[in-house]
Amino acid sequence: MSRSAPLLLTTALLAASLLAPTTAIADDPLSEDALQAAWDATADPVVAASALARDAAGLQFTVGPSTYAWKSGSVLPIAPAGSDDPWDDALGFVIQGEGSITTGFDDRGEALAFANHLATKLDVPVADAKAVRDGMQWTSPVSVGFVLTARPDVLNAARTQAELATDDKATGQAQRIVDKRLDLLRGGQDPIRMVRLDAMLAAQRGGDASHARVLVDVDTDRALELEPRAKHGGNRLTRDSWLTQVYDESGLWSTRNVSELGNLGEFEAGGTSWRTVASQAFPRAGGPDDHTSPPMPPMHWEPIHADNTVQADVAKGRNVLEIEATSQMVLAPRGGPGSWLVVEVPFHEERKESWELQGITATLADGTELPVLDLPAEPTDRWDKRYAGSSNLVVLGRPLDEGEALTLTVQWKDTLPWANLSTDPSGTGARSLGHGTGLQSVIPAISPGLVGNPWPFTTRVGLPADDDHIDVAISGLTTRTWTEDGRRWTEASSATPAMWADVALGDWISLEAPAPRDDLPALRVHLFRDEAQALPGVANEAYKVIDYYQRILPPFPWKELEIFQSPDMWFGFVWIAPHAMVASTQAKVITGMGKYFTEDAPHLSEGVLAHEIAHQYWGHVARPASIKDFWIAETFAETFSCLYVGATYGEDAYRSRMDEYKKTWEQEADAWRASLTAAYESGWQPTIVYNYGPYVMLEMLRPRIGDEAFFKGLYTLLAAKPEQPVATEEIQLVFEAASDQDLSDFFDYWVEGGYVPALSMDYAVTGSGRNRRVEGTVHSDVPLGTIDVPVVVRVGTKKVETWVTLVDGHGDFTTEPLPGGKGSVEVELDPDGRVLASSRKAKAR
Ligand SMILES: [Zn+2]
Repeated sequence: MSRSAPLLLTTALLAASLLAPTTAIADDPLSEDALQAAWDATADPVVAASALARDAAGLQFTVGPSTYAWKSGSVLPIAPAGSDDPWDDALGFVIQGEGSITTGFDDRGEALAFANHLATKLDVPVADAKAVRDGMQWTSPVSVGFVLTARPDVLNAARTQAELATDDKATGQAQRIVDKRLDLLRGGQDPIRMVRLDAMLAAQRGGDASHARVLVDVDTDRALELEPRAKHGGNRLTRDSWLTQVYDESGLWSTRNVSELGNLGEFEAGGTSWRTVASQAFPRAGGPDDHTSPPMPPMHWEPIHADNTVQADVAKGRNVLEIEATSQMVLAPRGGPGSWLVVEVPFHEERKESWELQGITATLADGTELPVLDLPAEPTDRWDKRYAGSSNLVVLGRPLDEGEALTLTVQWKDTLPWANLSTDPSGTGARSLGHGTGLQSVIPAISPGLVGNPWPFTTRVGLPADDDHIDVAISGLTTRTWTEDGRRWTEASSATPAMWADVALGDWISLEAPAPRDDLPALRVHLFRDEAQALPGVANEAYKVIDYYQRILPPFPWKELEIFQSPDMWFGFVWIAPHAMVASTQAKVITGMGKYFTEDAPHLSEGVLAHEIAHQYWGHVARPASIKDFWIAETFAETFSCLYVGATYGEDAYRSRMDEYKKTWEQEADAWRASLTAAYESGWQPTIVYNYGPYVMLEMLRPRIGDEAFFKGLYTLLAAKPEQPVATEEIQLVFEAASDQDLSDFFDYWVEGGYVPALSMDYAVTGSGRNRRVEGTVHSDVPLGTIDVPVVVRVGTKKVETWVTLVDGHGDFTTEPLPGGKGSVEVELDPDGRVLASSRKAKAR
């Protein structure tokens, strides 16, 4: 069927029956043919002719926390090409005129961040910014914009406006706007694909689309630049004045792309002139401020068990593995009945065109088979290519009740790279992890699903029995090895749901170390042949790390840990920690360059191993609830790694890391914010989560609440919520409970805000004798927020420390009476760096 076939979305049933050779489709709107017809009909929506324009005056609709309203202008429908009634079939609309967006921020920290942004970047008067921080709605003028959605209330708002006579140019202009913006937005996820899926499901099921996703993209009157970005020129993210809102109650926007995890509703600054970074153009600002439960799709598929079989063979040339995989997955709807789901099949294609989906079947407990539809993305760039051909819709003949089981069987073939010591022959383009490491996820992703698709699983991998140059590492506890039909099989499983349950294959020599004590896990270490002598050393170091963690954290969560080597990289390394696994790389450097890696971080490789092992707690036991909470995994993995190297290799190994992290954020990082909760939308993400985060936790929060409360809080969190999503608010709550302190201001400013202020102090010595004191004021260049900063006064060898609270940019102080009564006085602003600051200036009045 051609894309310009005159199919109407809402009458797809009738149209399909006219075009198709049989009438079977008409009998079953959920047949594969009927679904395919509806899908194809919506491939290329276009802006309708100017004659169909409606008056924009009075148009108003609400999406999540935002209300959009227009005073004047015209509206045109976006509909499937060839539609007879574009308003009836609308998948969205374009507005050209004068309007506004009004929105609010429920979350205190987000409101503070936005208010500071208004005051410092958009020259909004501080008093107005303060009102926004304190809960006032924010309104901004908008001109042109468009909406894509299947939601009836939003479509009806435009559709029911009065007709309007416009000139013929309106359509051409509107089409250019939509084309240009979609070209940009499709660099991340494809909004057309989103609206096609939602509209098709609504139409075919005759259904309720009241919770369908909405994308609103509007041009505001100024560059909003909501994301943490570079301070000066030369920043990589060049923003325009467009604002993109994606509202997604289903959490469907994506389950696989880490930059879009766990959205309940988002208010996003969009627009960049750089297509390659468009996938990063979705900072979150707004959404629920629920302190007890993390964002979760209202209805999602609960993974019950995945059983995976993988056969791997080395292809000729020995650089590529050919695999055949089968996953049998049992799952059930939670949070409501489930009537459809999307299955994304792993897709790698190390050798071009080698991926092949051999079949997906979906069966109910009574044996009924359900229709499955392939949903290819438009391959606009490499992100989409990853999805092309791998995303499949399963439509159920009737909604399954909550808890009712469905079995999916997915079979596919692919080629993978494997860890065999080969590096990029050019010597510069190092292969990164997941590519060249032999590491592969084998469990298909399900949406609507939980963040990270956690599955209890059993995975067995069969290798050629006559090839001892290939070995396997599998997430989970190894339960069996055997030889059968010319294959060496290894089987592993996990009874608890595992995040990122992977398989890795490589040309390794392996060491299997049984647990030396009941409270330690077994280890399986896999290194390349010429490094096999290091096997016992790696195992020994891993045990030291686990032993250390178990003294301050709950018992190590798994009974077995796999550590495997991936190919060396030039001038860098990437280590990664899937479920119960650590993958390591060595950096290849030119002689003499090694010091650049190790001089600020003594015992670097021990530290990195400790970081990856810590991820088994931070990431796997405590699971980031959404992309906003992802900092928790990296910051606490690095926090515990720094503690380990300090405890094991001496205070210097700890101190030099902290000094380096402090220097990075006080003197070198050219970012205006280091927000931990917005880190994954920032070009500075690594330095924010690996350096700023650990410094804030270890050197600022820990002394504030004390070691005991710090470790008790984290221990309690891990013990109380094993294998459950953890939100930023919960980190704050456990520290508050352990310390009996209110940490709202601290978290709003340092965790969500992430400002590194320029501090200055003016002071005077007043009184004399026993009443001699220092009085003064401390100022910050960040207009809003509450922080406290120590002022230290020295008289001879004696010292008085006073913590000064700065509210919205300044704080007055008077010290206790100074010791000694006379003698020269030295006044310093935070001499020990207890508060990160880009400068600390002190001057006598
Ligand atoms: Zn990490």
